[in-house]
Amino acid sequence: MPRGKPEIDTEKCKGCALCIQSCPKDILRMSDDFNKQGVPYATCIDDDACIACKFCAIICPDMVIKILQYA
Ligand code: SF4
Ligand code: SF4
Repeated sequence: MPRGKPEIDTEKCKGCALCIQSCPKDILRMSDDFNKQGVPYATCIDDDACIACKFCAIICPDMVIKILQYA
């Protein structure tokens, strides 16, 4: 199984939460605090569990998620 790590540009996240619903590993959450846009942002709670499927990056309307993929 591939391994990955989501890198989220939290300042550009608009807080739509679409990525949270898309993650098959259920490792994305909305933050308790706010970015400079005044909205909660997406964050990963368990990088080790990411399988680099890229569903989150693909569904993000603003393309603010990049997936680092390991072998
Ligand atoms: S790449 Fe897949 S497993 Fe990793 S955070 Fe995104 S949706 Fe979840
Ligand atoms: S889909 Fe993109 S804009 Fe929406 S919460 Fe996730 S990272 Fe933020």
